[in-house]
Amino acid sequence: MTVAVSLENVYKIYNQVPVVDNLSFDIAAGEMFGLLGPNGAGKSTTIRMLTTLTKPTQGNVEVCGYDVIRQRMQVKQCIGVVLQQISVDGDLTVWENMELHGRLHHIPNPQRQRLINQWLDYVELTTKRNDLVKTLSGGMKRRLQIARALLHQPQILFLDEPTVGLDPQTRRRLWEIIKDLNKQGMTMLLTTHYMEEVEYLCDRIGIMDNGKLISLGTLQQLRSTHGEGLVIKQVGDRWEYLFFPTLSEANNYLENLQDKTGIMVRPSNLEDIFVELTGRQLD
Ligand code: ADP
Repeated sequence: MTVAVSLENVYKIYNQVPVVDNLSFDIAAGEMFGLLGPNGAGKSTTIRMLTTLTKPTQGNVEVCGYDVIRQRMQVKQCIGVVLQQISVDGDLTVWENMELHGRLHHIPNPQRQRLINQWLDYVELTTKRNDLVKTLSGGMKRRLQIARALLHQPQILFLDEPTVGLDPQTRRRLWEIIKDLNKQGMTMLLTTHYMEEVEYLCDRIGIMDNGKLISLGTLQQLRSTHGEGLVIKQVGDRWEYLFFPTLSEANNYLENLQDKTGIMVRPSNLEDIFVELTGRQLD
């Protein structure tokens, strides 16, 4: 297995508080990895360290085999980044945004124009190339961000909440693009709050809470660790969730109950596991 991303005992400490707290995990080349966690869990800080925007306080972080502190330029060359904060410039046209990024990455012409055309075509923005970005819809802007992130032909793409705020049709189109890029061999790390996005897209899932990785594995591994069968019980105006190793054990539990009112059995899903692990309190 070729390792594309590696974190080893990584800390990020702000004002003596570890917001990333002894984090260790690897992402294999070609893998689609989903990082989940409630707000404040440390996901963005982790992505910011992986993309060289902030330095780890302690620990080793390697991306494409390069150290994020000592080999920052090499790391930047091999990654594409689609973050919420780094958005496209609304006062430039679609093509100008691509051109600027291409120049910043020193891609010479005519290769630069060929790649701009190729990626605008890929995200279906060719007809919008001379439009000002501020006139585009949210979904088009996100597709432009992706095209721009791909221009310098990175090996790893980081996507921070790529479909937040988009309507379901647009979200599905982005899923197709993301899935297709991964099929072509692109390694990806994405964060999201949409569980179905992770279930649909990701090979492996890491769940963070309070700066720590509290669960790691495929969806099937997480389900078998935490329980594949779920009994949901109504208690007053609240719901209680009981996990069972298998669905048939959950069904047996129900069958043996005298009073079955307000009780339901179903297979567990990622959202059940996520809420179970990270708590039910609201922020
Ligand atoms: P997530 O992306 O999972 O919502 P973040 O990585 O954004 O979490 O934040 C994790 C914690 O780190 C939060 O409590 C946040 O307030 C804190 N934090 C993030 N950046 C800074 C900073 N520059 N200075 C101080 N605290 C920060």
